Amino acid sequence: MMVLVLAETQNGQFKKAAYELVHYGYQTAQAMGTSCAALVLGTATGAEVLGKYGASKVYHVSDTALDQFDSQVYTAVIAQVAEKAGAGTIVVGHTSLGKSLLGRLAVRLKAGSVPAVNAVPVVDGGVFKVRKPVFSGKAFATYEVRSDKKVLSLMGNSLQPQEVGSEVAVEALSVDVPAPKVTVKEVKRMEGRTPLPEAELVVSAGRGMKGPENWNLVEDLAEQMGATTACSRPVADADWRPHHEHVGQTGVAIRPNLYIAIGISGAIQHLAGVNSSKTIVVINKDPEAPFFKAADYGVVGDLFDVVPRLTESIKKFKA
Ligand code: FAD
Repeated sequence: MMVLVLAETQNGQFKKAAYELVHYGYQTAQAMGTSCAALVLGTATGAEVLGKYGASKVYHVSDTALDQFDSQVYTAVIAQVAEKAGAGTIVVGHTSLGKSLLGRLAVRLKAGSVPAVNAVPVVDGGVFKVRKPVFSGKAFATYEVRSDKKVLSLMGNSLQPQEVGSEVAVEALSVDVPAPKVTVKEVKRMEGRTPLPEAELVVSAGRGMKGPENWNLVEDLAEQMGATTACSRPVADADWRPHHEHVGQTGVAIRPNLYIAIGISGAIQHLAGVNSSKTIVVINKDPEAPFFKAADYGVVGDLFDVVPRLTESIKKFKA
């Protein structure tokens, strides 16, 4: 039975994570001795490109009712496509969309499900095994899934998507799209910067900033870098910053290429959401701050001195 991957789109464009997911699906299919198909829902263009990342088939259900995400409707549609395509393993991203589909799909398909995996599965003695981080990323657990059908959600930035094939023709599929039980009246999208879960560059700050009136330092640096801003939880709790910027165990979990932490102590609950970042830079005046243990680069210094100098240097470098 083949592997079916949901390639997420936003405003008709493929998210960066879609290519990673398809490549993960391809590698999973190879481990299972089968092939990988990608599924695109709603309005989207350029789906042929998914073939480059390893999809041998691309299915498109283009019904515009699917432009608006509804987990019940998506579950019904994906389950039908899985049946038509003969797919036994479904892979979704560990995004807010994917998280809300995983359990529903598992129930609908009577499948074993593993959320937040970050490694390509192996089939060992006929048993499907897949790894995921546990205890806030401090350890890994390997799950064995013995059911025929499986549903996995993949953590973002788990692997680098690679081109392994060429574009494939997109096959239009017609399935029954049920009417949603909930009607969305209005969607307000955040203007400007890349949303945190998708951001490659993140500038984040904590209580060391002393107050919201100093956030222009963070904004200026982020602006120069084209980065997204984030914060520690007490900062959001104190209303210095909006809650959607709060990263950590109880906030958004991110995996950017670069995470700059300014005036953040590095409590375990904060690290839980950021310690999978590729490169971590810490700016803190306390050389004993726990964050330095998780840092790739550290600057011991007063942020009110270091951050404006860093911003100036980037400005000069770009000029
Ligand atoms: P502080 O711990 O007060 O650290 C401020 C840092 O700034 C210090 O290291 C200090 O040396 C430095 N500093 C001060 N002045 C300067 C200066 N001028 N220049 C340079 N450095 C300076 N926290 C999260 O962030 N995310 C979560 O999701 C989260 N979830 C939690 C869940 C639970 C159940 C609990 C109990 C806690 C949670 N917390 C979370 C809170 C967490 O334990 C810490 O309290 C919090 O992360 C600390 O935030 P902070 O680093 O901004 O502040």
